[in-house]
Amino acid sequence: MNRFSYLNNLPVKQKLLLVIMATTLMGLVLASAAFLGYDRYQVKKNMAQDISALGRLIADRSAAALVFDDPRLAEKNLASLRVKSAIVAACIYGEDGAIFASYTADNISTEKFPAVSNTLGHAFTSNSLTLFEPVELEGKRIGTVYVRASLKELDTLWQQYLAAAGLTIFLTSLAVFFLSSRLQRIISEPLIHLTQTSQRISQQNDYSLRAIKEGEDELGLLVEAFNGMLETIEVQNKNLETTVATRTSELTAANIKLKELDTLKSMFIASMSHELRTPLNSIIGFTGMTLQGLSGELNDEQKDNLSRAYQSAKHLLSLITDVIDISKIEAGRIDTYPETVFLETVVSEAIIAIEPQLKEKHLSLDIEVPDGLQLNTDKKRLLQCLINLLSNGVKFTEEGGIRLTVTERDEAVAIAVADTGIGIAENDLPKLFEAFERLDTHLRVKVGGTGLGLYLTKKITTDLLRGEVSVQSKAGQGSIFTLTVPRDLQKLTET
Ligand code: ADP
Repeated sequence: MNRFSYLNNLPVKQKLLLVIMATTLMGLVLASAAFLGYDRYQVKKNMAQDISALGRLIADRSAAALVFDDPRLAEKNLASLRVKSAIVAACIYGEDGAIFASYTADNISTEKFPAVSNTLGHAFTSNSLTLFEPVELEGKRIGTVYVRASLKELDTLWQQYLAAAGLTIFLTSLAVFFLSSRLQRIISEPLIHLTQTSQRISQQNDYSLRAIKEGEDELGLLVEAFNGMLETIEVQNKNLETTVATRTSELTAANIKLKELDTLKSMFIASMSHELRTPLNSIIGFTGMTLQGLSGELNDEQKDNLSRAYQSAKHLLSLITDVIDISKIEAGRIDTYPETVFLETVVSEAIIAIEPQLKEKHLSLDIEVPDGLQLNTDKKRLLQCLINLLSNGVKFTEEGGIRLTVTERDEAVAIAVADTGIGIAENDLPKLFEAFERLDTHLRVKVGGTGLGLYLTKKITTDLLRGEVSVQSKAGQGSIFTLTVPRDLQKLTET
């Protein structure tokens, strides 16, 4: 991880400025520190040399004073140290180590002279420089000169140097800041321009925009690569648009062709089915008449065979009728005939149609229709849907019964047909309204059917009655099919 990751969110401008300023400041501080350190070392060295030379001089001059025991001469010698303002005190020790003569810069003898040291030469303490210099005569040490110089002047000088260095660093930093805030633009401006261009591209989705190249450096190369990528995207987009346009027009053409074919198919089925219905009706008519004994007595076997033929013909007729209806609706060749009817009347007619099967299976019937409720709808089609739902209810119920309830909504009426039959498994519900879909249940073979009833009911409800059909069911717990139709179909077809 980047050690300076906390700086990641700073704008490039400020990062550059920070780098320049930090580097410059560090350089200035290090250079000043080195310079000041070296200077202090030199000044101290010179001072030590000066004081040592003076000490040596006093020692040479004071040999006679010591030999002749003349402290006044020694003090006079010491007094010549006054020329060096840094020297604050000095003394001469006799051979026995006692102070022979002394000197203080301000003549007030507050100085505490140290005991004579055997370590000769100079030494620095925190605030002064001390020197012990031997007084020798013919190679024999007859005394010692002690000199103490204050470092005060040195410290004052040092403080002035520090202040000057501080000021120099401050002024240089200001100048560097001023200069670098201008110079950083060389790097930051192309980057900012590149960022702004990419933002505009993503906001406006306009890949024709280009970044402007300022030079031939790495930033220039970056701009070039960026523009190159834009070029590629633009070309690809154009190709894609052309392909999409071509495909769309191909699809539209294919779609139109398919629709034409579909209409043709529906028209074909409708007219073929019509041709089939005529002979079928005559088969049903004649077998019905024969079954009733109008053409003479039939024996049991003949009756049984004929009634099978009669039932099959009726089944075929209902299948053909359904197919014709579906084809006509799909081809848009079916008209609606809205009329105002009492819902009770439509429901009663539907009940009459399913009553024989209801009685045969000993199922109960419960009806709840508000009195005098009128609807403007296509009566024939509504009746067809109701009969489909009711007869399914009867077909798929072994025990219990059917319950039909009507609920009034704002602009619509909901007719629910509930049964206590076998119900429908949850995963079968989505395919329930598809054509020729018959669910795999134990009643499948027994009750027969085409798998077109619900498909047709849905088509009629949505396409002709402008309503909808829904189902609620659970396997083994009965089903509720709900038809919701508008109160006023006429009004809806006019708008
Ligand atoms: P058909 O009744 O001719 O088979 P439908 O389209 O009317 O065709 O119904 C399709 C299938 O939906 C039926 O075969 C049956 O499996 C299921 N189904 C329809 N109504 C009910 C119902 N009330 N209870 C249980 N299953 C039903």
